Amino acid sequence: MLKVMRRVVQEVNGAETLEEALSIMVQRVREAVETQACTVFLMDQEHQELVMMATDGLNPEMVGKVRIKPADGLVGLVGKRGEPINVDDAPTHPSYHYIPEIGEERYKAFLGVPIVHHRRIMGVLIVQQEEARRFDEAEEAFLITMSAQLAGVIAHAEATGKMASVSRVPNNYKEIHFFDGIASVPGVGIGHAVVVYPLADLDAVPDRSTDDIAAELSKFATAVAAVREDIQVLKKRTKTMLPEEEQALFDVYLRLLDNNSLPGEVNNVINTGVWAEGALRQVIDLHIRQFEAMEDAYLRERAIDIKDLGRRVLLYLQQDKRKLPKYPEQTILIGDEVTASALIEVPEGQLMGVVSSKGSSNSHVAILARAMGIPTVMGVPKMPVTQLEGVELIVNGYHGRVYVNPPATLRKEFALLAAEERQLDEELEQLRELPAETPDNYRLNLYVNTGLISDVERSLSSGAEGVGLYRSEVPFMARERFPSEEEQRIIYRQLLGVFAPKPVTMRTLDVGGDKALPYFPIEEANPFLGWRGIRVTLDHPEVFLVQARAMLRASEGHHNLQIMFPMISCITEADEALRLLRQAYQELLEEGLDIPFPAVGVMVEVPSAVSQSKALASRFDFLSVGSNDLTQYILAVDRNNTRVANLYNALHPAVLRALKYVVDNAHAEGKIASICGEMAGDPAAVIALMAIGFDALSMSAASLPRMKWVIRNIPMTQARSLLDEVLMMHDPKEIRRHLENALIEADLGGLIWAGK
Ligand code: PEP
Ligand code: MG
Repeated sequence: MLKVMRRVVQEVNGAETLEEALSIMVQRVREAVETQACTVFLMDQEHQELVMMATDGLNPEMVGKVRIKPADGLVGLVGKRGEPINVDDAPTHPSYHYIPEIGEERYKAFLGVPIVHHRRIMGVLIVQQEEARRFDEAEEAFLITMSAQLAGVIAHAEATGKMASVSRVPNNYKEIHFFDGIASVPGVGIGHAVVVYPLADLDAVPDRSTDDIAAELSKFATAVAAVREDIQVLKKRTKTMLPEEEQALFDVYLRLLDNNSLPGEVNNVINTGVWAEGALRQVIDLHIRQFEAMEDAYLRERAIDIKDLGRRVLLYLQQDKRKLPKYPEQTILIGDEVTASALIEVPEGQLMGVVSSKGSSNSHVAILARAMGIPTVMGVPKMPVTQLEGVELIVNGYHGRVYVNPPATLRKEFALLAAEERQLDEELEQLRELPAETPDNYRLNLYVNTGLISDVERSLSSGAEGVGLYRSEVPFMARERFPSEEEQRIIYRQLLGVFAPKPVTMRTLDVGGDKALPYFPIEEANPFLGWRGIRVTLDHPEVFLVQARAMLRASEGHHNLQIMFPMISCITEADEALRLLRQAYQELLEEGLDIPFPAVGVMVEVPSAVSQSKALASRFDFLSVGSNDLTQYILAVDRNNTRVANLYNALHPAVLRALKYVVDNAHAEGKIASICGEMAGDPAAVIALMAIGFDALSMSAASLPRMKWVIRNIPMTQARSLLDEVLMMHDPKEIRRHLENALIEADLGGLIWAGK
């Protein structure tokens, strides 16, 4: 069964259209279950009707015409209940509803399963048979598995507008192609796509055209010659080690690399104006699919060899350079997994939007995009990334939607929304010099999170009272090696200088998890539970000490440096980091530097640090909660995983209670408690955070005026009663609704929806 299932899924995924996918599906499922009819109905979400979309065994002329309400018949019952229905004699079932046109009168046995995607009923898949019999358990399990696979295909078709055929009402908007993901950085970005992709990954190579066919042909010929040579060498080297049959593989490789074989096909594609990498991907893809569809298991396995060969050629094609793409004036960066460093590579002023198939709002790339004020949509499943190079896109960061090749009317609509947003920002500029003080006179400090020097201007003009989190790993990412002490000193000094005398809290290097340095790769099965943050730098004191010295030296004469340690999970780590910092300080004093020892704090980002927050507060000058990580560790939800992004919610009562515990402990020790995770820039969350008692909130510069607007309009007494109310609730969504209602009632609705 597994083999059959794999084949069907492969064929269905390879289909060009939804109709083709569905008709393959019904045919193959009917054959696999050895029955007489298989039919698929899809839900017209607008009218809540199940539409017959493909059949093998019923009247094919009724495809697209038969519509069933969820209350009607057995098919409707499956859709309504959302569970399988298996009956041996359907006509005698009380819910049986006879539809003469579809020609099902001869069938008795009926098995229907719902097609469900992310808890939504997308349709119903049924099999029928003349003989009255009950489909057995294995058949039922098979059908359920197939329908789960089909759900993904349908969801994709829906996202790309290909489900239009299901609706009976022609609607212009159905023509518009868009993909939905997670709204990660609000704003609207319009521009042309540049695909970022990892090297040596054939599947990730984007479609690109070339004006210089001759150059591409010659580049490709050189790469093929190099691979041929490698294989000859391999063949010679293994002559005495491998039996003859295994040796034959090399001959197969060489034959495939013969000009009449794969290279000839690739050349043909290049001659149509496709660049060499893209042509190679197309040809290899086609062959892999052909091999994978073969009956013979041995031949099927040969797909791996083709893939291997393709990768070898690709490596040579990419070897000479890590060439940066040509960025259009208005660039939308898209990729399967866009990295933080890819963002930094786009020339200043040209990046208008970011779209990543993987990741979530709390991935570091999203955080960096937020700091840069770039509209971003993360976690866009099944976006055909490789086909979008150069295509015009609109990124709607409010609703997490990406429009492909938008019509002019839509572009105009979005330009208008963006203008309204700018107007709101301009109006809020009036708050710049005013304190973040509630109407009943409670004062908070608002700081910015930053990592880029180019951010400084925006940070200053936002009215920030200092830097609450400087992500020192960002300049590390933009290099090809660890920056030297002097290089670091210059960067840090610039930041300290611009903000002096306002405080600047620098976090020591925080890599690992989803933050990788290109020159210091960390390969782990569970990177978020692994070697990250302070764990890495304590294991590399040479890196820690250089950074600590650079920070301390940079502060000379400014006296506004504060330092904090990330990912502290036990007291000994915090003590050890402090000891190293003191060591660096002592060395500098001995070298004749005259600087005060900075205020030092720890980040509370893991549950163990929450439990030990009193002890930590007693040893350090301040606690700063990293709620992005704290939320993921309290809820056991990977902050980067699209699939569980709906479970990641910083307003979860468990998180709110933990925050309260930390703040109370810090205050009991007479210390400052601040928060620098993304929730500090979430208007609904800010009401809870001020009531919890945080002394300072640190957020992206773009969010700061908006959060000040919240604080200046919501009295602390009201915030406290709202907190009491939400702490009685269990559902984070209900908590958000409750807090957002308070914003709307205070006339701050513009903070939670697009436009003003
Ligand atoms: C956090 O975890 O909340 C935090 C501020 O650190 P980062 O997002 O850089 O991991
Ligand atoms: Mg963190």
